Amino acid sequence: MYPFHWVPAAGQRHASLAEKPVGCAYPTGTQVETLCQQEVSADNSEVAWLWGTCAECNREARRLAGVEP
Ligand SMILES: [Zn+2]
Repeated sequence: MYPFHWVPAAGQRHASLAEKPVGCAYPTGTQVETLCQQEVSADNSEVAWLWGTCAECNREARRLAGVEP
């Protein structure tokens, strides 16, 4: 498993290193710090998972996963 989790928030799919609450996702309204250094409020609605991936989080996630861009 990778050390980060994807979290839809503020219109984009971000990634975060924040500890996940029990379950499979951050509940809507959870304040998380993203890999792109933003403090966002998670949105766990179904449509939120269809948002585009944050480019900066994607780049950082790939780096953490050891995958070269
Ligand atoms: Zn981001």
